[in-house]
Amino acid sequence: MRDGYQELLQASLNHLQALKSKGDRFVLVEQETWAELCGKPPHRNPASTPTSILPKSVRPTPDSSKLPIIRPSRGTQPAKKEAPQQSTEPPSLPLTGEARYAAMQALRDRALICSQCAHLARNRQQVVFGTGDIHSPIMFIGEAPGADEDQAGEPFVGMAGKLLTRIIETMGLSRSSVYIANILKCRPDTPGQSSGNRKPTPEEMSACVPFLHQQIDIIRPKVLVALGSTAVEGLLGGAIFITKLRGHWQTYRGTPLMPTYHPSYVLRKQTLDIKREVWEDMLQVMDKAELPISEKQRGFFLKP
Ligand code: SF4
Repeated sequence: MRDGYQELLQASLNHLQALKSKGDRFVLVEQETWAELCGKPPHRNPASTPTSILPKSVRPTPDSSKLPIIRPSRGTQPAKKEAPQQSTEPPSLPLTGEARYAAMQALRDRALICSQCAHLARNRQQVVFGTGDIHSPIMFIGEAPGADEDQAGEPFVGMAGKLLTRIIETMGLSRSSVYIANILKCRPDTPGQSSGNRKPTPEEMSACVPFLHQQIDIIRPKVLVALGSTAVEGLLGGAIFITKLRGHWQTYRGTPLMPTYHPSYVLRKQTLDIKREVWEDMLQVMDKAELPISEKQRGFFLKP
């Protein structure tokens, strides 16, 4: 048994050395493996062999739900036609500095060539991955890119995006200091129509949500803000009434999540009550993210 373990260890070391000599800087590591590498004695149970550092030729099909994050495999070279990998649990350790940047870049590279939803990949102009500060304490999440975002390659542009930017600035932040992403990275197609947008289906959102999971796991924000009922449904599942759920804290992947109205809904309604409710939600978000709140900010919608 001991000899077998030593052989396995040596084979793994040789493989890692070979990867390093080819320029690899990161490898996939299961959480169990990571825990063992961090000091626990080697696991002797064959079912828990540290598979993710083995050569592909001897590596079983990975249980992707155990993979904490996608780490870059070689510089920023994209993998070929990979679908998003499921990651149901956050990684045990936060990534810092260069590793966080590299992990996000590698994830982005994979998303940019993803063609899991053939109908969306065929019709998109660009994959709209996400934008902003990967160290932000706040992450805003929408449902899917529309025509404007598809054109720009950035989430929340156009009128709704301008309003979201105004809300962020009123919070004392800038658009570039928060992170903004959608559940779906490709614009929902609109067959037979030359313009307009449609809501993503639950199936489309669930196909793409692993990318968002990994964005959340890499950034580890203090607070998530879900914008609009479709985004909330895509994250929490089931049908919800945004008018009832907004303003009430939920939890998503262990992170507090605030559901609120989508900026385009606020633009459509244009009522003081809706605007006040969104602002009250943002005050809660600022509080949870431990951002300073001035008296002026608290009193925006108070009657004189
Ligand atoms: S929507 Fe997501 S899963 Fe589907 S093709 Fe685009 S990036 Fe891939």
